[in-house]
Amino acid sequence: MTIEAPQLRVGEQLACPTCSTKVVVVKAGQVDDISVTCDGAVLQSAKSVTQPAPAGATPSTLIGKRYVDADETVELLCTASGSGQLSFGGTAMTLKAAKALPASD
Ligand SMILES: [Zn+2]
Repeated sequence: MTIEAPQLRVGEQLACPTCSTKVVVVKAGQVDDISVTCDGAVLQSAKSVTQPAPAGATPSTLIGKRYVDADETVELLCTASGSGQLSFGGTAMTLKAAKALPASD
């Protein structure tokens, strides 16, 4: 059985079917057929998914943090923490680093 991933659209709310992670798409470049996964589970439109209760484990995806893929093609804002690790195109997404300020010295 194939679970079809929703098209990534800016402003779209996505939810993980296997943990409590929720994200909002902040940036979606040319990503027609690559899906965002959370510990291997394809994120689904938040409207169409029923999530399990938070497990109480230390979350690895944290509310309020932004996650990007290696090329920053896709950026997600976490709106609910979860225990899963977000991946895009099979590669783990990383916390977006704050833009470094120009050195003043
Ligand atoms: Zn998850």
